[in-house]
Amino acid sequence: MFTLDTSLISNLAGLSPLASEFDLDLLLLKALEKKGLSLEESAKLLAIDGKNNPAQLEKLLQTAGKLKRDIYGNRLVLFAPLYISDYCVNDCEYCGFHCRNQQMKRTRLTQDQVRLETGHIIRMGHKRILLESGEHPENSIDYVCDAIKTIYSTKVGNGEIRRVNVNIAATSIDNYRKLKDIGIGTYQLFQETYHKPTYERLHKGPKADYSRQITAHERAFEAGLDDYGMGVLFGLYDYKFEVLALLSHARYMEETHGVGPHTISVPRFQPAPGVVYSSDFPVSDVEFLKLIAVIRLSLPYTGMIISTRESPEIRKKAFEIGISQTSAASKTSPCGYSGANPLDNGGNIGQTNKQFELSDHRSVDEIVENICSQDMLPSFCTACYRSKRTGETFMKLAKAGNIHYLCHPNAILTFKEFLEDYATEKTKKTGEATITRELERIETDERKQETKIRLKRIEDGERDLFF
Ligand code: SF4
Repeated sequence: MFTLDTSLISNLAGLSPLASEFDLDLLLLKALEKKGLSLEESAKLLAIDGKNNPAQLEKLLQTAGKLKRDIYGNRLVLFAPLYISDYCVNDCEYCGFHCRNQQMKRTRLTQDQVRLETGHIIRMGHKRILLESGEHPENSIDYVCDAIKTIYSTKVGNGEIRRVNVNIAATSIDNYRKLKDIGIGTYQLFQETYHKPTYERLHKGPKADYSRQITAHERAFEAGLDDYGMGVLFGLYDYKFEVLALLSHARYMEETHGVGPHTISVPRFQPAPGVVYSSDFPVSDVEFLKLIAVIRLSLPYTGMIISTRESPEIRKKAFEIGISQTSAASKTSPCGYSGANPLDNGGNIGQTNKQFELSDHRSVDEIVENICSQDMLPSFCTACYRSKRTGETFMKLAKAGNIHYLCHPNAILTFKEFLEDYATEKTKKTGEATITRELERIETDERKQETKIRLKRIEDGERDLFF
């Protein structure tokens, strides 16, 4: 089982930046070989003082952007979180759902409400959901599995949810097996902070067990969930320590279990109604972009996720330098999409029940249009998961440089579905121009021709075509 070498990580977090530009250039060149970096090398990059040495920071960001484009192309995968219950027995200082929060009226969605919320998410154009829930006896694994079944069975017009990723509390191997059997995509769990004294100070309840949290991915793996995501809540402790600990954990998983994390998420602390905690270790925008770039260069084949906690401006920059998946038009409370909370007279939901505040309030349509204008390609693809290209199989494809041949045309096809079914006229126009541009970027004529044929089939009414 993974144990963190705290003194090693603390020492590395205190390293000075590389003394010469030449050494920095050499290290960045090494990163472009796509073999990852040692913890010490990552620490040297984290030590760059972006405020006083913006030229070095820029070099780092540009290199991360290049690596991202080499591996992932210009695709950006979209999803929506779905909160099914804000009941929680834990008392996490930074979270609006903490059990001391008396001003909150708790909601646990019925299966009808899960269907209603899912319908709203489908009508926004999404094909992926990230299911979220507090930890509570009411939110049993069977309840979560029922909700997943409900989500998969909900159809609205041409739309449906094709992949449900799950972010629920650390649990047992038996419970993880149930998630595996029901057919989830990625199982996400964030350590929140790897710094044990801080972890123990900020948590009360079952989640306060640091060991239960830090070993959860291994239990999930043992249950067959080889597609897992990790993360840290930045702002709880020194960001350099957190990044290096996260990289150390990811490396341990790859070396011990043969598969590294499918995704790493980079949430930054945001205030929430009922939360008095304020960050002792705030992460500035410059530091935030730097840490995304360092993770990108250190773990080249791991997807990276950013949420709507961040502003449109920061998200735009983050898309360029490392992020491959993003939430869009999120609500962070149960019934947040439909507003149909019977406890709240259908009106005020989302005002007091948020897990945290959001900084990006744009619609999916607006976000999609902006992504296109950024010379990027919005994707609603779920093909790898449904073709069983997960875990080691996915990593082998990615490392051989072969995901472009599948993911790029699949992104075009799923984006076409979005344009046909959900886009405004303005976005449709921008989106069609994006598809024309992206077709030209398909590397082989054969794949280009087949993609064109499938685009026509989508125009004629077919859906769910993928390579
Ligand atoms: S972070 Fe999770 S476990 Fe902690 S209070 Fe919030 S919902 Fe509960």
